[in-house]
Amino acid sequence: PVTDVMLKVEGLKVAYGGIQAVKGIDLEVRKGELITLIGANGAGKTTTLKAITGTLPECKVEGHVEYAGQPIRGKTSFDLVRQQLAMVPEGRGVFTRMTIHENLLMGAYTRDDKAGIADDVDKWYGIFPRLKERSAQLAGTLSGGEQQMLAMARALMSHPQLLLLDEPSMGLSPIMVERIFEVVRTVAAQGVTILLVEQNARLALQAAHRGYVMESGLITMTGPAQAMLDDPKVRQAYLGEE
Ligand code: ATP
Repeated sequence: PVTDVMLKVEGLKVAYGGIQAVKGIDLEVRKGELITLIGANGAGKTTTLKAITGTLPECKVEGHVEYAGQPIRGKTSFDLVRQQLAMVPEGRGVFTRMTIHENLLMGAYTRDDKAGIADDVDKWYGIFPRLKERSAQLAGTLSGGEQQMLAMARALMSHPQLLLLDEPSMGLSPIMVERIFEVVRTVAAQGVTILLVEQNARLALQAAHRGYVMESGLITMTGPAQAMLDDPKVRQAYLGEE
């Protein structure tokens, strides 16, 4: 059946040993949406993303995750990238001892359309001129913000339909944070569906269509992003207002 649900999570639970980090959550991301998952440190946001992509080998994971109408369990990250699901992890994970250019090409490792790859490299260099200027430099020499941009550009080189972003603004200067959010909006406007985990609730909700609030392993609120920005509880707990 044709579905506009890109990602469906039902009854997801994750335990690290005796610690229940995710306690049974449901969430849904529809095609073309930019959805944000906000919440305090330790709420379980990163664990949720890792459970979705199956990158939590040491843990007990229960529940159901469907991507593009298919159960996701047991797929390798290679399978997922080939099926156009890409994740940019917290801490970025660029290949520090490869050049910026090589990092971008690595992002295209599931593709074999040489001309298309070259066009995409040019496109991302256009969006991130800093990366172009430094294309022959080792990625490890980039600033945190530049590495974040490279990590996003590399993930986008795989032509994802769904992009999972884990705290792209973490540790960046206010100017770089603005720039990263601008890029997230640009990518969303190009039709890429995005699930964005963020502690910067204000900017995340300003960019998103809908949001979910996670607290101590549970989803405690969800709704249109604007309604959440206007909600007194969200304002007090996550937007730093009295
Ligand atoms: P942050 O924004 O700080 O990353 P988060 O909302 O992403 O927070 P998680 O990183 O998912 O939260 O952590 C959820 C809970 O699971 C926390 O209590 C954390 O201490 C615990 N946890 C995370 N990773 C592990 C691990 N590898 N082993 C044991 N406990 C873990």
